Amino acid sequence: MKKKVLALTLAALMAASLTACGGSSNSNATEAPADTTAADKTEVAEGGKLVMVTNAEFPPYEFHDGDKIVGIDAEIAQAIADELGMELEIEDIAFDSIIPEIVSGKAHMGLAGMTVTDERKQNVDFSDTYAAASQKIIVKEDSEIAGPDDLEGIIVGVQLGTTGDLYVSDLEEQNTTVERYSKGFEAVQALSQGKVDAVVIDGEPAKTFVSQTAGLKILEESFTDEEYAIAVKKGNTELLDKINAALKTLKENGTLDEIVAKYITAE
Ligand code: GLN
Repeated sequence: MKKKVLALTLAALMAASLTACGGSSNSNATEAPADTTAADKTEVAEGGKLVMVTNAEFPPYEFHDGDKIVGIDAEIAQAIADELGMELEIEDIAFDSIIPEIVSGKAHMGLAGMTVTDERKQNVDFSDTYAAASQKIIVKEDSEIAGPDDLEGIIVGVQLGTTGDLYVSDLEEQNTTVERYSKGFEAVQALSQGKVDAVVIDGEPAKTFVSQTAGLKILEESFTDEEYAIAVKKGNTELLDKINAALKTLKENGTLDEIVAKYITAE
Protein backbone atom coordinates (compact mmCIF):
# COMPACT_ATOMS: atom_id res chain seq x y z
CA MET A 1 0.00 0.00 0.00
CA LYS A 2 2.84 2.32 0.88
CA LYS A 3 4.36 1.76 -2.56
CA LYS A 4 1.17 2.94 -4.28
CA VAL A 5 1.23 6.21 -2.40
CA LEU A 6 4.90 6.58 -3.29
CA ALA A 7 4.17 5.88 -6.95
CA LEU A 8 1.55 8.58 -7.12
CA THR A 9 3.77 11.14 -5.46
CA LEU A 10 6.55 10.11 -7.81
CA ALA A 11 4.41 10.96 -10.82
CA ALA A 12 3.99 14.52 -9.66
CA LEU A 13 7.61 14.94 -8.58
CA MET A 14 8.98 13.50 -11.78
CA ALA A 15 6.82 15.75 -13.93
CA ALA A 16 7.96 18.75 -11.92
CA SER A 17 11.65 17.86 -12.04
CA LEU A 18 11.55 17.21 -15.80
CA THR A 19 9.92 20.54 -16.45
CA ALA A 20 12.60 22.20 -14.36
CA CYS A 21 15.39 20.43 -16.25
CA GLY A 22 14.04 21.24 -19.69
CA GLY A 23 13.99 24.90 -18.82
CA SER A 24 17.26 25.34 -17.01
CA SER A 25 19.88 22.81 -17.98
CA ASN A 26 18.99 22.28 -21.62
CA SER A 27 19.77 25.49 -23.44
CA ASN A 28 18.74 24.07 -26.82
CA ALA A 29 15.34 23.01 -25.60
CA THR A 30 13.55 25.74 -27.55
CA GLU A 31 15.41 24.90 -30.78
CA ALA A 32 14.76 21.19 -30.51
CA PRO A 33 11.35 20.57 -29.02
CA ALA A 34 10.62 17.04 -27.91
CA ASP A 35 8.06 16.36 -30.63
CA THR A 36 10.08 17.23 -33.74
CA THR A 37 12.63 15.08 -35.50
CA ALA A 38 14.23 18.01 -37.35
CA ALA A 39 17.14 18.31 -34.93
CA ASP A 40 17.19 14.63 -34.09
CA LYS A 41 20.70 13.23 -34.35
CA THR A 42 19.64 9.72 -33.53
CA GLU A 43 19.56 7.94 -36.87
CA VAL A 44 20.47 4.29 -36.69
CA ALA A 45 22.87 3.50 -39.52
CA GLU A 46 25.59 0.90 -39.77
CA GLY A 47 28.96 2.59 -39.53
CA GLY A 48 27.34 5.58 -37.81
CA LYS A 49 27.73 6.83 -34.28
CA LEU A 50 25.67 5.45 -31.40
CA VAL A 51 25.60 8.11 -28.68
CA MET A 52 25.06 6.98 -25.10
CA VAL A 53 24.47 9.39 -22.23
CA THR A 54 25.27 8.45 -18.67
CA ASN A 55 26.43 9.85 -15.34
CA ALA A 56 29.76 8.21 -14.62
CA GLU A 57 29.51 8.45 -10.83
CA PHE A 58 27.77 5.14 -10.33
CA PRO A 59 30.18 2.24 -9.83
CA PRO A 60 30.15 -0.58 -10.89
CA TYR A 61 27.73 0.45 -13.65
CA GLU A 62 29.63 3.54 -14.86
CA PHE A 63 32.69 5.23 -13.45
CA HIS A 64 35.93 6.86 -14.52
CA ASP A 65 39.10 4.87 -14.97
CA GLY A 66 41.67 7.48 -15.98
CA ASP A 67 40.09 9.30 -18.96
CA LYS A 68 37.92 6.33 -19.78
CA ILE A 69 34.35 5.63 -18.73
CA VAL A 70 34.09 1.97 -17.80
CA GLY A 71 31.64 -0.30 -16.03
CA ILE A 72 28.76 -2.67 -16.73
CA ASP A 73 26.66 -0.15 -18.67
CA ALA A 74 29.63 1.06 -20.73
CA GLU A 75 30.42 -2.54 -21.71
CA ILE A 76 26.80 -3.42 -22.47
CA ALA A 77 26.57 -0.32 -24.66
CA GLN A 78 29.79 -1.30 -26.46
CA ALA A 79 28.44 -4.81 -27.05
CA ILE A 80 25.17 -3.35 -28.42
CA ALA A 81 27.13 -0.98 -30.68
CA ASP A 82 29.14 -3.98 -31.95
CA GLU A 83 25.91 -5.89 -32.67
CA LEU A 84 24.58 -2.88 -34.60
CA GLY A 85 27.86 -2.26 -36.43
CA MET A 86 28.00 1.25 -34.98
CA GLU A 87 30.65 3.28 -33.20
CA LEU A 88 29.90 3.96 -29.54
CA GLU A 89 30.35 7.44 -28.10
CA ILE A 90 29.77 7.99 -24.37
CA GLU A 91 28.77 11.38 -22.96
CA ASP A 92 29.06 11.97 -19.22
CA ILE A 93 26.35 14.37 -18.00
CA ALA A 94 24.33 15.06 -14.85
CA PHE A 95 21.95 12.23 -14.01
CA ASP A 96 18.90 14.48 -14.18
CA SER A 97 19.90 15.67 -17.69
CA ILE A 98 19.87 12.18 -19.19
CA ILE A 99 16.15 12.00 -19.97
CA PRO A 100 15.99 15.59 -21.35
CA GLU A 101 18.96 14.80 -23.70
CA ILE A 102 17.15 11.75 -25.01
CA VAL A 103 13.86 13.60 -25.37
CA SER A 104 15.55 16.34 -27.41
CA GLY A 105 17.26 13.79 -29.68
CA LYS A 106 20.85 14.65 -28.73
CA ALA A 107 21.66 11.08 -27.74
CA HIS A 108 20.43 7.68 -28.87
CA MET A 109 20.23 6.00 -25.51
CA GLY A 110 20.67 6.40 -21.79
CA LEU A 111 22.40 3.67 -19.80
CA ALA A 112 22.86 4.85 -16.25
CA GLY A 113 21.67 2.14 -13.90
CA MET A 114 18.36 3.75 -14.74
CA THR A 115 15.33 2.37 -12.98
CA VAL A 116 12.18 1.83 -15.03
CA THR A 117 9.35 3.90 -13.54
CA ASP A 118 5.89 4.68 -14.89
CA GLU A 119 6.68 8.39 -14.64
CA ARG A 120 9.83 8.12 -16.77
CA LYS A 121 7.85 6.01 -19.26
CA GLN A 122 5.76 9.07 -19.97
CA ASN A 123 8.87 10.76 -21.39
CA VAL A 124 11.02 7.96 -22.80
CA ASP A 125 10.66 4.36 -23.93
CA PHE A 126 12.54 1.63 -22.08
CA SER A 127 14.21 -1.47 -23.48
CA ASP A 128 13.76 -4.88 -21.92
CA THR A 129 15.31 -4.86 -18.46
CA TYR A 130 18.88 -6.07 -17.99
CA ALA A 131 19.41 -5.99 -14.20
CA ALA A 132 17.51 -6.27 -10.95
CA ALA A 133 18.34 -3.58 -8.39
CA SER A 134 17.14 -2.08 -5.14
CA GLN A 135 17.46 1.06 -3.06
CA LYS A 136 19.53 0.37 0.05
CA ILE A 137 20.06 2.33 3.24
CA ILE A 138 23.59 3.14 4.41
CA VAL A 139 24.18 4.22 8.01
CA LYS A 140 27.10 4.54 10.43
CA GLU A 141 28.18 1.21 11.95
CA ASP A 142 26.91 2.20 15.41
CA SER A 143 23.62 3.72 14.17
CA GLU A 144 20.29 2.81 15.72
CA ILE A 145 18.58 3.18 12.34
CA ALA A 146 17.64 -0.39 11.47
CA GLY A 147 15.34 -0.24 8.46
CA PRO A 148 13.09 1.79 6.15
CA ASP A 149 10.64 2.61 8.97
CA ASP A 150 13.38 4.49 10.84
CA LEU A 151 13.88 7.06 8.07
CA GLU A 152 11.04 9.24 9.33
CA GLY A 153 12.15 12.46 11.00
CA ILE A 154 15.87 12.11 10.26
CA ILE A 155 18.25 13.68 7.70
CA VAL A 156 18.71 11.48 4.63
CA GLY A 157 21.26 12.04 1.86
CA VAL A 158 20.42 11.02 -1.71
CA GLN A 159 21.64 11.60 -5.26
CA LEU A 160 19.63 14.31 -6.99
CA GLY A 161 16.94 13.11 -9.38
CA THR A 162 17.32 9.41 -8.64
CA THR A 163 14.59 7.09 -7.48
CA GLY A 164 16.24 7.24 -4.04
CA ASP A 165 15.63 11.01 -4.08
CA LEU A 166 12.04 10.62 -5.24
CA TYR A 167 11.09 7.92 -2.71
CA VAL A 168 12.75 9.60 0.26
CA SER A 169 11.19 12.93 -0.72
CA ASP A 170 7.85 11.28 -0.03
CA LEU A 171 8.90 11.11 3.63
CA GLU A 172 9.25 14.89 3.87
CA GLU A 173 5.64 14.86 5.06
CA GLN A 174 6.88 12.75 7.99
CA ASN A 175 9.47 15.41 8.88
CA THR A 176 12.33 13.71 7.10
CA THR A 177 14.90 16.19 5.76
CA VAL A 178 16.32 15.31 2.33
CA GLU A 179 19.83 16.47 1.41
CA ARG A 180 20.41 16.12 -2.35
CA TYR A 181 23.92 15.68 -3.75
CA SER A 182 24.93 15.62 -7.41
CA LYS A 183 27.11 12.56 -6.82
CA GLY A 184 26.17 9.53 -4.73
CA PHE A 185 29.65 9.40 -3.22
CA GLU A 186 29.24 12.95 -1.89
CA ALA A 187 26.16 11.80 0.01
CA VAL A 188 28.16 8.94 1.50
CA GLN A 189 30.95 11.34 2.51
CA ALA A 190 28.37 13.58 4.18
CA LEU A 191 27.19 10.54 6.17
CA SER A 192 30.70 9.74 7.25
CA GLN A 193 31.14 13.39 8.36
CA GLY A 194 27.90 13.24 10.36
CA LYS A 195 26.07 15.76 8.16
CA VAL A 196 23.29 13.27 7.36
CA ASP A 197 21.97 10.31 9.36
CA ALA A 198 21.50 7.88 6.47
CA VAL A 199 21.95 7.60 2.70
CA VAL A 200 19.48 5.93 0.34
CA ILE A 201 21.13 4.74 -2.85
CA ASP A 202 21.19 1.78 -5.25
CA GLY A 203 22.65 -1.41 -3.78
CA GLU A 204 25.68 -1.91 -6.00
CA PRO A 205 27.14 1.63 -5.73
CA ALA A 206 26.30 1.39 -2.01
CA LYS A 207 28.64 -1.61 -1.73
CA THR A 208 31.41 0.18 -3.63
CA PHE A 209 31.12 3.41 -1.62
CA VAL A 210 30.92 1.62 1.74
CA SER A 211 34.00 -0.44 0.88
CA GLN A 212 35.84 2.85 0.26
CA THR A 213 34.70 4.55 3.48
CA ALA A 214 35.46 3.46 7.05
CA GLY A 215 32.75 3.00 9.69
CA LEU A 216 29.65 2.51 7.52
CA LYS A 217 27.25 -0.39 6.93
CA ILE A 218 24.41 -1.26 4.56
CA LEU A 219 21.13 -2.30 6.15
CA GLU A 220 19.75 -5.71 5.23
CA GLU A 221 16.22 -4.63 4.32
CA SER A 222 15.86 -2.91 0.93
CA PHE A 223 13.87 0.31 0.65
CA THR A 224 12.54 -0.65 -2.82
CA ASP A 225 13.05 -3.28 -5.52
CA GLU A 226 13.68 -1.97 -9.03
CA GLU A 227 14.85 -2.92 -12.51
CA TYR A 228 17.29 -1.23 -14.86
CA ALA A 229 16.70 -0.69 -18.57
CA ILE A 230 17.96 1.42 -21.46
CA ALA A 231 16.07 4.63 -22.23
CA VAL A 232 15.46 5.76 -25.83
CA LYS A 233 13.42 8.54 -27.37
CA LYS A 234 9.71 7.91 -27.25
CA GLY A 235 8.46 6.38 -30.46
CA ASN A 236 11.93 5.44 -31.79
CA THR A 237 10.83 1.85 -32.32
CA GLU A 238 13.51 1.19 -34.93
CA LEU A 239 16.24 1.81 -32.35
CA LEU A 240 14.32 0.16 -29.51
CA ASP A 241 13.77 -3.03 -31.54
CA LYS A 242 17.46 -3.16 -32.45
CA ILE A 243 18.54 -2.62 -28.85
CA ASN A 244 16.15 -5.31 -27.61
CA ALA A 245 17.34 -7.75 -30.28
CA ALA A 246 20.97 -7.02 -29.32
CA LEU A 247 20.17 -7.42 -25.60
CA LYS A 248 18.49 -10.75 -26.33
CA THR A 249 21.60 -11.97 -28.14
CA LEU A 250 23.86 -10.78 -25.30
CA LYS A 251 21.66 -12.53 -22.73
CA GLU A 252 21.52 -15.76 -24.75
CA ASN A 253 25.20 -15.98 -25.66
CA GLY A 254 26.36 -15.28 -22.12
CA THR A 255 28.01 -11.92 -22.85
CA LEU A 256 25.78 -10.06 -20.39
CA ASP A 257 26.61 -12.48 -17.56
CA GLU A 258 30.31 -12.22 -18.40
CA ILE A 259 30.19 -8.42 -18.25
CA VAL A 260 28.35 -8.43 -14.92
CA ALA A 261 30.73 -11.05 -13.45
CA LYS A 262 33.68 -8.79 -14.27
CA TYR A 263 32.34 -6.10 -11.97
CA ILE A 264 30.13 -7.86 -9.41
CA THR A 265 31.35 -10.87 -7.46
CA ALA A 266 28.58 -13.29 -6.52
CA GLU A 267 27.85 -13.44 -2.80
N1 GLN B 1 18.57 3.68 -10.22
C1 GLN B 1 18.46 5.03 -9.81
C2 GLN B 1 17.55 5.77 -10.72
O1 GLN B 1 17.27 5.34 -11.80
C3 GLN B 1 19.81 5.73 -9.71
C4 GLN B 1 20.58 5.79 -11.00
C5 GLN B 1 21.88 6.60 -10.92
O2 GLN B 1 22.15 7.30 -9.96
N2 GLN B 1 22.68 6.52 -11.93
O3 GLN B 1 17.06 6.82 -10.39
